Amino acid sequence: MLNRWNDSEAKAFTSEYEPTYGADLALRTYSSRLLGADPGLVLHGGGNTSVKTQWRDRFGDTREVIYVKASGYDMATIPPSGHSGLLLDPVRRLLTLPRLSEQEMVDELRRYLLDWKAATPSIETLMHAGLPEKYVDHTHADAILTLTNQKGAEAIVREVMGDNIAAIPYVKAGFELAQAVNAKRAEQPEAEAIVLIQHGLVTWGPTAEASYRKMIDLVSRTEQYLESRRARVFVSSAESVEAARQLYIQIAPILRGCLARPSADPDRPFRRVILRPVLDPEILGLIQSECGRALSLTPPLTPDHLIRTKGLPLWLDPPRSDDIGAFREQVHAAVREYATDYDEYFSRNQSRLVPGLQKFDSYPRVVVVKGVGAVCAGDDVRAADTARDITRQTLRAKSWFAATGNEYVGLSEEHLFDMEYFPLQHAKLAAGPPPTPLGDEVALITGAAGAIGLGIAEQLLNSGCHVALTDLPGESLESAVRTVSERFGKRVIGVPLDVTDETSVKKGFESVIGEWGGVDLVIVNAGIAMVSSIAEMSIDRFRKLEKVNIEGTLLVLAEAGRHFKLQGTGGDIVLVSTKNVFAPGAKFGAYSATKAASHQLARIAVLELADLGVRVNMVSPDAVFSHGERRSGLWAEVGPDRMKARGLDEKGLEEYYQSRNLLKARVTAEHVGRAVLYFATRQTPTTGATIPVDGGLPDATPR
Ligand SMILES: [Zn+2]
Repeated sequence: MLNRWNDSEAKAFTSEYEPTYGADLALRTYSSRLLGADPGLVLHGGGNTSVKTQWRDRFGDTREVIYVKASGYDMATIPPSGHSGLLLDPVRRLLTLPRLSEQEMVDELRRYLLDWKAATPSIETLMHAGLPEKYVDHTHADAILTLTNQKGAEAIVREVMGDNIAAIPYVKAGFELAQAVNAKRAEQPEAEAIVLIQHGLVTWGPTAEASYRKMIDLVSRTEQYLESRRARVFVSSAESVEAARQLYIQIAPILRGCLARPSADPDRPFRRVILRPVLDPEILGLIQSECGRALSLTPPLTPDHLIRTKGLPLWLDPPRSDDIGAFREQVHAAVREYATDYDEYFSRNQSRLVPGLQKFDSYPRVVVVKGVGAVCAGDDVRAADTARDITRQTLRAKSWFAATGNEYVGLSEEHLFDMEYFPLQHAKLAAGPPPTPLGDEVALITGAAGAIGLGIAEQLLNSGCHVALTDLPGESLESAVRTVSERFGKRVIGVPLDVTDETSVKKGFESVIGEWGGVDLVIVNAGIAMVSSIAEMSIDRFRKLEKVNIEGTLLVLAEAGRHFKLQGTGGDIVLVSTKNVFAPGAKFGAYSATKAASHQLARIAVLELADLGVRVNMVSPDAVFSHGERRSGLWAEVGPDRMKARGLDEKGLEEYYQSRNLLKARVTAEHVGRAVLYFATRQTPTTGATIPVDGGLPDATPR
């Protein structure tokens, strides 16, 4: 493990933050970030740090205070304000109480905050306060977790780290752990650090550097020990990894469908999940090995993040043949069995449940499939990523046991239950972003680099949806993706897709499945236009429109239908039609005719896909010129001709279209996006309908 301390970097932190926060907190921030920079030390908020210092109150009196990492901050990026300050003496005194529930502890801690608005400090605040040293660092290092998930862990810790490192058996985090650490320190005052069995490591020192260095030294020593014992390595070949990836894409929609939880709402009958697979060579190697199944089904290394992963994964054998129907039955049966086991686990431990907490659903969050890897599910991509990172860490550590023949001893069921149903963990979930209408859904938009496509994408993204922007490869698609990625991060991907090419359409869907596990909403938006009278029409150019507007629609509808059938949780399709379907214009025959055909295809899909729970609807905009800086491709084609015909400039033309509708409305891509959203959020039990988005054009009103 690399010691990342650098004196000049530390100095830079001091000069930046000392004037506002003081030198102690400036260096506390620096070394916390060093710990956060190493995923082998802290993963998704595992671990916390503190510093004790002085603070001057309003009366000019100097008070002893402690700054402790607040929950919700990632150490890798923590700002100085990410440590909340508390009065030290009353916090320390809490340790003398005989007992304190989690909620009481949080209430007490908040009482002694220097700033009442500060974020709640870590649940391990009392442990930090009880230790006398100025700087305290605590991590859940992978190496320590691996070392201590064994029989006789305390003796092994002594063997690896020496007698001056204390160790205590697993104790629930919070008040009980703080008391246990305090007692151990009293018994062994010369100890230089404390190993928390099946939990992590605590180091301390008079300076930020000393405490950090101790952490790195002890973890490095443990890593070297672990490496020296490893008798074999598990690594799958590049071909096996590629085969696993291919198989994953075939089965992901089925897994995703079987992991969707039925809901009581007939319009939204499923609570869907986002899938993120672990397809690393080492993990695949372990899963394929003779001990893969047994080790996968042992409890986790540490009770962190049980709310994201659950205690145990679901194990699945790979599909036996090409019979997808049989595989779906196999997965359904396995999920049902898992749910029954989870219900029984809950009943066995229900007496330990803190009043007021509700049972979680019984579905697995991690599915280990032999030959494929570990597939992690979450309510959105963030939750799925957390489950994936934890699962990767867990399986990597477990591979050490397979490689050494040592026996893995995981946490007891009671300990797991206590942490899964830990009130503060539930508070963390409740404090997360609010559920959004489309937070569990995945959309694929064709022609997404155009003005209307991007306008629709933004509306869906604002509603929490995961959105794949697809279009022909090139700068236009890339810049569209950049525009929205900045705001929506991991909920956006760009996928090059040519709607006129069957293979490209199939591959496009596969890319989205590889990213999030499946697709729920398909926006058929790609289309092109041309201006020509029938008499002057070039048949080659007409055929080009046929290819994109008709065949493109057909290929996307067909692939969407096949995918929705495989996934088995219904779906939505929205076709971006046009007012020209209902009220065609002169010199606009190629566009009007081909769009009418695509509209008709969508109406057929309405009939053919209803049995699958798939709704197909249309929106028909008129005169959308641009979206932000992005010009509409259609209007780039049509605009000059119409301007010439009517003797208007660009602004004049926009005004002309605005003045010809009943509401005198300027129609925008945002409006089209909202109409799509109406269908996507399933406000009414509607399929086969068209919403005009045109400000009111009597001739174009669908009937
Ligand atoms: Zn901890």
